Amino acid sequence: MKSWLLSLLLSLVFALPQSLAQSITVESPDKAVSVILTLQTERPTFRVTYKGTPMLEESPLGIVTNEADFSDGLTFLSKEESKVDKQYTQDRIKKSSIHYAANKLTCHFENAKKKKISIVFQVSNNDVAFRYELPRWKDRTVCVVEKELTGYRFPSVTTSFLSPSMNPMTGFARTAPSYESGYGIDAAMTGQPSRPEGYVFPGLFRVGDKGWVLLSETGVSSQFCASHLSQYKDGIYTIEYPGMAQNNGFGSSGAAIALPGATPWRTITLGQSLKPIVETTIPFDLVDPLYQASQPYKYGKATWSWIVWQDPSMNYEDQVKFIDLASTLGYEYILIDALWDTNIGKDRMAQLLDYARSKKVEAFLWYNSNGTTNDAPQGPHNKMNTAIERKKEMKWLQQVGVKGIKVDFFGGDKQETMRLYEDILSDANDYHLMVDFHGTTLPRGWERMYPNYVGSEAVLASEMLIFSQDVRNHEAVYASLHPFIRNTVGSMEFGGVLLNKYLTKSNKERNKRLTTDAFQLATAVLFQNPVQMFGLTPNNLTDVPAFELDFLKAVPTVWDETVYVDGYPGQYAVIARRHGSQWYVAGVNAKKETLILKLKLPMFAGKKAQLYNDDASSSTTKKEVQLKQNGEFTVEIQPNGGFVIH
Ligand code: CA
Repeated sequence: MKSWLLSLLLSLVFALPQSLAQSITVESPDKAVSVILTLQTERPTFRVTYKGTPMLEESPLGIVTNEADFSDGLTFLSKEESKVDKQYTQDRIKKSSIHYAANKLTCHFENAKKKKISIVFQVSNNDVAFRYELPRWKDRTVCVVEKELTGYRFPSVTTSFLSPSMNPMTGFARTAPSYESGYGIDAAMTGQPSRPEGYVFPGLFRVGDKGWVLLSETGVSSQFCASHLSQYKDGIYTIEYPGMAQNNGFGSSGAAIALPGATPWRTITLGQSLKPIVETTIPFDLVDPLYQASQPYKYGKATWSWIVWQDPSMNYEDQVKFIDLASTLGYEYILIDALWDTNIGKDRMAQLLDYARSKKVEAFLWYNSNGTTNDAPQGPHNKMNTAIERKKEMKWLQQVGVKGIKVDFFGGDKQETMRLYEDILSDANDYHLMVDFHGTTLPRGWERMYPNYVGSEAVLASEMLIFSQDVRNHEAVYASLHPFIRNTVGSMEFGGVLLNKYLTKSNKERNKRLTTDAFQLATAVLFQNPVQMFGLTPNNLTDVPAFELDFLKAVPTVWDETVYVDGYPGQYAVIARRHGSQWYVAGVNAKKETLILKLKLPMFAGKKAQLYNDDASSSTTKKEVQLKQNGEFTVEIQPNGGFVIH
């Protein structure tokens, strides 16, 4: 075609009135996922189908900055299409060797004032990711992103699995929000508990019998705030930035960015079953390491006195008992929790750490992130929130041989808090320290972005099993959700595996555990975190069957592969994980009745395996089983029970 003819045709195409809807489609490499971008009434929208079935209906796009409004009046300029093909290895997530292939579509727009913006979509086989990219606008090289119009409109049959955002400056010592709410499970979108700040990521949706959709975001660093889903309003959830009341009302809601710049990635994982939801690596596919590890970090298991023995155990003698426990179990670490600064002190801590090393046990120490954002009374205080104090403290930590820190009680999701997380991580790497966060936000790609990051709480965790009868009553229900929601997008430092019959030091009364031992063993596989702080106590060495302890000595904390087997969030969950050549299949039952599951386990086809399971009397047994050549295996799980096949 002659070039003058081509340019004439192109000018005709772009001269079309914008009210005439133009659609641009980008498909996944396997063509199952289609994203259809439409420019209608000068506001871009998108919809998503899976094998032709609508999973998201026409949903809005757009952002507002203090320099330029991209919520309306947009003109489509041009598009670019390309392919993304990325292979990488990652040592701390659900899978070790990953291939990400996506079709990429970049659409360039300008607003009425001729300021430009690009919307970038990357569509892989079961994931849609998109973000807004802002160029420099002449001599304008910075802006504040104030608001996002991005929304998600599900078909009306959709039910939702959402965890409400905690109201800022409420709860224990005004430490909320910290992603420690329960869930509205399989509820109509209008039937979720109402909170001013909506729902935290990730959110899971069941589009009737058509399939499943998981919404989240990734790539949130110091360069942006973390966001959440709004309340359901006018048939839609929108992306919202943190409420002003967070961080004691101080700090910003949006994000200050340099230009050219971009928002974090918005992610949509979808499919006909829960398989792509469990197996997605999209939070990690879209990000890259922000710095190199200063040394190889070693993951593993830890003992942790605080969870069952609580504050009174924060003394030298009890920590010695838990060092001895870690040593007997062959665990790499002890986690020494809050109050060590006053109850043990730095001089005796150095002595305690020498003792630990003599038993081949290394340590994580707890810190309060405070600061300025809440009233959490536990020390050490004010050691992590300024660069000067932090580096002084980390230098000491390195000198006395501490390997990691657990930092607790963060303020919220504002950009200034994201900066604090990144500053702690980056400084810690300089002093060879791993970092575990509690009282905290959801990690958003951090396992890949920060090489010394080893987990976040961001869940109604084991501590609430100690504090709340309601949480004990719902332990199995919550456990059946995490593999499909919270834990599928990031490490979850739950602090689980509690084998005391009563979750107290005496193990004789109060806080009765309602789940079986097999359930607890299953969570060691079901809940993924590269460093596991288990809730075992010294008495477990004599009051728990030896085969259970042997299992907990051997169970890995890092995985090469994770595979969905069966489940329905809120009812039961079964997943398989592989470490080297070793497969573990684990399941829990949250239903009121005994569950009989016929599973397909090709990894064990024709093989002998060890089955850890409970019986009608809730006692846990181990036996050898022979699996059929076709890999089919029938397992019975008690209510509040579980199983592991290894
Ligand atoms: Ca907590």
